[in-house]
This record gives sequence, C-alpha cells and structure tokens, in this order.
Amino acid sequence: MMKKVLISPAKYLQGNNELSNLGSYVRGFGYNALLVASTDDQERVQHHLDEANEKENFNLIYGGFNTECTKKEIERLRRMCAKDNCDVIIGLGGGKALDTAKAVGHFENKPVIVVPTIASTDAPCSGLAVIYTEHGEFEEYIFFKRNPDLVLVDTGIIAKAPSRFLVAGMGDALSTYFEARSCAKAYANNIPGGKSTLAALAIAKLCYETLLADSLKAKAACDNNVVTAALENIIEANILLSGLGFESSGLAAAHAIHNGLTVLEETHHYFHGEKVSFGVIVHLVLENAPSEELNKVLHYCQSLGLPVCLKDLGVTDVTTEKVMEIAKAACAEGETIYNMPFDVTVEDVYAAIITADELGGSI
Ligand SMILES: [Zn+2]
Repeated sequence: MMKKVLISPAKYLQGNNELSNLGSYVRGFGYNALLVASTDDQERVQHHLDEANEKENFNLIYGGFNTECTKKEIERLRRMCAKDNCDVIIGLGGGKALDTAKAVGHFENKPVIVVPTIASTDAPCSGLAVIYTEHGEFEEYIFFKRNPDLVLVDTGIIAKAPSRFLVAGMGDALSTYFEARSCAKAYANNIPGGKSTLAALAIAKLCYETLLADSLKAKAACDNNVVTAALENIIEANILLSGLGFESSGLAAAHAIHNGLTVLEETHHYFHGEKVSFGVIVHLVLENAPSEELNKVLHYCQSLGLPVCLKDLGVTDVTTEKVMEIAKAACAEGETIYNMPFDVTVEDVYAAIITADELGGSI
C-alpha cells in the first residue's frame, strides 16, 4: 500500500492579544529565549513583549534579524544561541524571519516558537525554510526534522498590518486546494515525501471554502484594523489551513508558475501570494477546469484586487519571449509542475499563460 504522511506544528494557537501570554509558553520550554526579529517588527510589538514579561518572568535575548534568511545570518544567530544558553528560539515577523528562527532551532536542536505578525504566506506552520544568497536570490530549501513546536498567532497584531499582506496571503491560500486536487489525482508525493491523507485534502478544501465565504469581510475588517470573526477565519485559512494543506498535500502548477514569474524583473515588487494568484488562473487553464470554476476564481481575485493577468503584475509589455521565459522556468527540472496528473510541456505552459492572461485581462 501507499505510504501516507501528514505533518504539522505541535501546537497552533490563535487569538486577539495572545502575544501577551508569550511568557507562559516560553516557560514551558525553559527561561532564556532568543528573539529573531527585525528592529521594525520588534518595535511594533514591544508593548506586548513587555506585558508578557510582566505577566510571567522570562529572559528575552534580542537577536535582531538582518532582513534575509541566509546561511550567514543563521550562523550568527546560532552563535548567539549557544553563547547565551538559549532554551527556545522565537521567530517573529514575516516569512523570512520565521524561516531563519526555524533553521536556528533545527541546527541547535532547540524548540521553536513562531509568531507571524502578518498573514501573507503559509510559511509559519511548515517544517522547511527557503534560503537566500547574500544578494537576495533563491539558493535552496532546507527541510527540518520537525515543524515548529508552537505557532502563536495574535490576530490583533495582524489586523493592524496593511491589508495588502492579508490579501496576498489569500492569493497564496487560494492555490492550496487546486494544487492538492492535482497532486491527489496524480498520486504525487507531498512535501514530506508521502501521499496525501483524507485529512489534508479535507483541510485544503475547507481552506478554499473559507476564502470564498469570508475574504471580503476580512479585508474590510483589516482595512480598519479591527478583529472580526471573518478576519479570524481568514487568518486561520491563510496560516493554518493553507500551511497544513500545501505541505501535506503537495504543490503543483500554480507555485511553479509563481517561480517562473520571478524571472521577470517587473514582478519583483509583487508579493509571493500575488504572483501565486495569477499562477492559480494559469493552473486552471492548464488543466482545463470547468468554466464555472474558472470564472468563480477570476471574480474572487478581482473582488479583492488580486492579480489575474500579467499587467496586474507589472508586465505591461507582454512579448512571446517573456512568456516563453516564464514557461521555461516553470518547467525547470524538479519543478512541482510535474505533479500535475498529465504530461506538461513548455509549449502547454506557454499556451496556458497566454490564455489565462487574455481571460484575466478581459474581465
Ligand atoms: Zn506559497
């Protein structure tokens, strides 16, 4: 029989003002905690950190964060961890700070607490990190023995971040169900190297349904920096449902298209989830999804301001050469596009991008 596998963080906790309870979670692991966070992110939540320390005494060591998840930065923080005898690593901020903290915990064999301050990607729950070079180019993925020990999501902090982050997270989460569906049809492996479970597929489906039901209401709440039930649901969809869904069900065309898009300089100012959003449209065209489903997704993206065509990603001058470049990069060896349940060629992907761009550009 096939081997099925599902991985997840040991604990996921979500609530308004939850960061002020950080001390009690740190004390579950020890006393000395190394904080991996940029000065900006740390200052944004400093009053919560102070409050947490008043409620439950612990030693917070400010490690800083150099904006990029590089091997050098991981080394620097590992040395701090050893020197200060840290019991636990806390990553606070966006995906790169969280990935760095996860890597430090992995190499130093220490527990990791992850505190996302934006809900723009599904990185917080995962057991992997994306490593960049000193120049900010993708270098490699590192896979860890285990996922974070605690993912602590303070919805009040996320509500106060610009809503463009939240919407980008919806774009990333939008891909989860479609990629999970394709991987299941293809019997493709998920990230930990097994087949998907019924649980992971149900989570991916719930992720999509939650997005359709609550995205607009959640964006309106976030635009006004308040927490509502809809915003709570979308934060859970972006971070937990999408995180478990992608990792334990697998990635396919949408994320490969995202990676292809990154070869064009014009797209560099756009967030990961914004590029994934157009990747989803291409994915649906590539597999010839029913028109009804494709239209539902196009209108969903349009209602939130998520990119549906190349122009929305800054590519104003669409040429054959540029689209071919995206298609070639999306079909690079080892890409997740080969998890689709049929053979995929560069020409197929080129045709799907051109068609998706036409459909998205004309709604
Ligand atoms: Zn993603």
